[in-house]
Amino acid sequence: MKPKIKPVSKGNHYHCSDGRTVSKTYVNRMVTKAKRQVLADQLETLGYHKCQECGINGGTPLDCAHTVSVDEAQKSGRTELSWAPQNIKILCRHCHNIYDKRNIGGAR
Ligand SMILES: [Zn+2]
Repeated sequence: MKPKIKPVSKGNHYHCSDGRTVSKTYVNRMVTKAKRQVLADQLETLGYHKCQECGINGGTPLDCAHTVSVDEAQKSGRTELSWAPQNIKILCRHCHNIYDKRNIGGAR
């Protein structure tokens, strides 16, 4: 049911849809930066952090989850999705677990 995705990554390099090739190190750095950005944006907008799924805003650690997993983005040659803020969601641990189960074969 899942469309077959041809791996386009070679060694430690991944392709972006604009034809750029980036290294694993670059991806990691950009993902870290994007997550920080998403969290900072939410703090600026709301004044606090909350889970974007259930709305909980305290008592539980919040994670940054990818809608399209980093793995999938890399495999499909759209590595830039790994660090696209609109592809990153802030979730509490509970929602993140549920979310990851729906996305078998994700980055972790
Ligand atoms: Zn939640």
